[in-house]
Amino acid sequence: MNAPRFTEAFLDDVRARTSLVELIGGHVRLMRRGRDHVGACPFHDERTPSFTVSEEKGFFHCFGCGAHGDAIAFLQRLGGLRFPGALEALASRAGLLPGRDDAAGAPRPAIERPSPRDLEDRRRDLIAWSRRIWREATALPGTLGEVYLRHRGIASPELLAVPTLRYAAALEHRETGLMLPTLVGAVQGADGSITGIHRTFLTSDGRGKAGVSSPKKMGGICWGGAVRFAKAGERLAIGEGIETTLSVVQSVPGLPGWAALSLGNIAGAGFGPGKPHPRLPGRVLPAEEPDMGRPGIRFPDVVREVVICADADSRDPESAEALLIRAGRRFMAEGRIVRMARPPLGSDFNDILRGVPSDEH
Ligand SMILES: [Zn+2]
Repeated sequence: MNAPRFTEAFLDDVRARTSLVELIGGHVRLMRRGRDHVGACPFHDERTPSFTVSEEKGFFHCFGCGAHGDAIAFLQRLGGLRFPGALEALASRAGLLPGRDDAAGAPRPAIERPSPRDLEDRRRDLIAWSRRIWREATALPGTLGEVYLRHRGIASPELLAVPTLRYAAALEHRETGLMLPTLVGAVQGADGSITGIHRTFLTSDGRGKAGVSSPKKMGGICWGGAVRFAKAGERLAIGEGIETTLSVVQSVPGLPGWAALSLGNIAGAGFGPGKPHPRLPGRVLPAEEPDMGRPGIRFPDVVREVVICADADSRDPESAEALLIRAGRRFMAEGRIVRMARPPLGSDFNDILRGVPSDEH
């Protein structure tokens, strides 16, 4: 291996000359939030940013999938590169060549790593915030949250009173500062405790999603958890969204269902390199092989059969397919039977329930 030619000093120099925000900002749309920057994680499928970049501390951390590291680790993961390859890419970007020490310029201060303690504190804050919003929300029946679900075709009295969905009359939609009526879902971790929340911001009459750019938001810790619509049984349906999962369980009486909120959370973290993307030059697909040590959603032992109810409306169907393969391999490796329920291309199960064309949701 050629690793020994990279001295610690050289590594520090490369890291110190690399602006993490600039590097990652070339691949992920980042927004400043306080001292950090946040964006949608490039390593798992998410709509709500849980990917945090700290320039000051020189690391990125995803509160969703747990991806974590410095500039070199970012390039390794993004490009499926080995360490030397990622380091060389960064070094030449920083105007340094391996083994040369004549590149001028004062290095930035040494990089401070986040302590496990920092991360644990942040995690605790996120969970406390989620539980506070959940506590302040009210039961669903009779609210605009119920109106919304009815307009999405959910009519089962049992599902319209499910204890893991609540309503908040006015929650802040952060990007716009608007206070909006909101359907709130409790995200329960593997032990059943609430670790995160899902919010669907609604119109003032409750008949649809609010007309803001991102009316659905995850918050707190959602990775590994799910919004549970029933106690898990021997068979368990896993969907992505709340409406699609409710549509499935309403249509199949007796089948319990959990909404995982993202395909990435169903698939868990991947292992090894992905295949080249067949359509997007320079991009790789998510690895099909699951990293068994880093699962997303987790099920109780009682679950023998997992029915994955995927959406088929992704803008990147090749990546979605790779994640489904990973999910299937993961649950089979856990000793479970896996079934895939697939709606027609371009649609999801809520479209089917409502009998609408796929482009109207
Ligand atoms: Zn992530």
